[in-house]
Amino acid sequence: MSKQGTSQETSSSRLQNRETTPAGPVELICESVSKSFPGRGRELTILRDVNLRMSAGESAVIVGPSGSGKSTLLNILGTLEEPTSGTVTLNGMNPFQLDERELARFRNRNVGFIFQEHHLLPQCTVLENVLLPSLASRESGVRLARAKELIASVGLSDRVDHRPAELSGGERQRVAIARALINDPSLVLADEPTGNLDRATAEVVGDLLLNVLSRRDAVLIAVTHSERLSGRFPRRYEINDGMLTSLQV
Ligand code: ADP
Ligand code: MG
Repeated sequence: MSKQGTSQETSSSRLQNRETTPAGPVELICESVSKSFPGRGRELTILRDVNLRMSAGESAVIVGPSGSGKSTLLNILGTLEEPTSGTVTLNGMNPFQLDERELARFRNRNVGFIFQEHHLLPQCTVLENVLLPSLASRESGVRLARAKELIASVGLSDRVDHRPAELSGGERQRVAIARALINDPSLVLADEPTGNLDRATAEVVGDLLLNVLSRRDAVLIAVTHSERLSGRFPRRYEINDGMLTSLQV
């Protein structure tokens, strides 16, 4: 009798675990992350106890007023900035335990960034810009094929030899998307990727970002002020006063 009770308990807790555990391996865990900056007189707390867990293939959007800490959070998740307290684990590793050189390598291999500004090198062609992050890590034949495939996936195959000045704002952001994906990162961070584009172009680029990402196993986290773009994400969060809350309906 008691044996049966135990086995029932075990199977129900297993069921619960299965329901609460995200499908697939967890790729990104952000635990109790806080960030403060020294201010004049007193410390400025930008992020307070932020928790987030994302699995491979999942995507989330973060919204919130200007100055609420969205970019600071993305920078911490992308290992560009260290949290004041709390931990970030990506693919089972705490990147902030690495030394500076190893951290740069880790970031290059594992994280793809898309910013509001495209940050393309003006003297380089579309193909060269997309190839750049892969120069240190991939064999040349493989990376060339990969770059061309990505450029095709953002619809710019006929522009490989063009320089950024010869492209429209939307096209430049499409190149930035391809560049972010060249090393097959497990984490893709997009900080207001359509913020500089007119509404129609922003829609095209936003759709493209989601379509390109939906075919891979990466975690995507985007910050946007576009309601249309944020509405397309299955998970939505808001930052207010440094606190991240889920906006699930
Ligand atoms: P958001 O992206 O939501 O607009 P940010 O994360 O860029 O906001 O900035 C949040 C707050 O943190 C702002 O008040 C900003 O001034 C402050 N902040 C960001 N970086 C620094 C820094 N290096 N030193 C001091 N304050 C900073
Ligand atoms: Mg910002």
